[in-house]
Amino acid sequence: MDKITQEKYNKSRERSDRISALMGQYMLKGYRMLGSTCEVCGNVLLKYRDQEDYCVACKEVDAPSAPVSRPVGSASASHPQQRSELISVVKSPTSQNAVHTAVHAVNEKMLWASQALSSALSTGECQQLCELLKTCAETLRALREIQQ
Ligand SMILES: [Zn+2]
Repeated sequence: MDKITQEKYNKSRERSDRISALMGQYMLKGYRMLGSTCEVCGNVLLKYRDQEDYCVACKEVDAPSAPVSRPVGSASASHPQQRSELISVVKSPTSQNAVHTAVHAVNEKMLWASQALSSALSTGECQQLCELLKTCAETLRALREIQQ
């Protein structure tokens, strides 16, 4: 193996080491490894809850500068089509699923608060629980609006 090939080999080796190290860190943070790969570099994609698919290779290892995300304003100014992409992400089945989960969680809390309210003995406790129920009801209404 000549010197240039060796160097290239080392570079790609170093790159894949960094990728696997980063992926390990992300998975500890709760990211899931997806069955699909990145369209740009072919690396396995990660996903966090209902967020967009995340490629550590493109976003961090191959990124020309520091691994901080670019300011949103400047990016959308030069690429106006990104706005419509964002809208389609909001309407995607994944985020509908997140809304569904949120509705479920709020419902459970409302049930819990109503039970606690019926056994509450102090005025202060009742007041807090009523506040909680009110907030839950408002949240539920907001979530239902997104669902439609
Ligand atoms: Zn990539």
